[in-house]
Amino acid sequence: MDDDAILITQLNDFIFCPASIYFHQLYGGMDNMLFQDKSQIDGKNAHKAVENGVYSSRKNILQGISVYSEKYNLMGKIDLYDGDKAELIERKKKIKTIYDGYVFQIYAQFFALIDMGYKVDKLFLYSMDDNKKYEIPLPCDNLPMFHKFEQTIMDMRNFKLDNFVQTNIQKCEHCIYAPACDRVQNDIGQRY
Ligand code: SF4
Repeated sequence: MDDDAILITQLNDFIFCPASIYFHQLYGGMDNMLFQDKSQIDGKNAHKAVENGVYSSRKNILQGISVYSEKYNLMGKIDLYDGDKAELIERKKKIKTIYDGYVFQIYAQFFALIDMGYKVDKLFLYSMDDNKKYEIPLPCDNLPMFHKFEQTIMDMRNFKLDNFVQTNIQKCEHCIYAPACDRVQNDIGQRY
């Protein structure tokens, strides 16, 4: 990945499996139709409501805008930013566990907004199905997580697909790219 800009959505993909980023790029938009399971499509639709401006028309709410962090060379979109409260919110269809990938995504959005001159005092993950809101401490208030975030970005920049073999069978079993993947563990790969 070297010095290319990293997409914010790739942080979560990388934690799940670094190889999945390459398949995502390879299949482009086609994977939405062919490979995504229902929960992933539901999640995308939740974001579509935001991007289409369904959620709010208040002027102090920014929805789905593109952001860029010069410091980390990260780019992507935010979900919701409330300028009055200086709050950044990332909505998910349903949050059962707060995975590191979720936290890294909102950190990336946070740093991008800061780099672009916005004030952000609070971060939230919002689970739409059960209407639960989880406050995520700012990176400066959770240094171990902040260091993990920076380490993940460094790992992404140094990652080489050629040397990679996925050793976690369970990940491959739940992966939409397994039928096409040659990095899959042998005993799983032989099924396809
Ligand atoms: S099938 Fe396994 S190795 Fe291939 S992308 Fe999915 S999780 Fe990674």
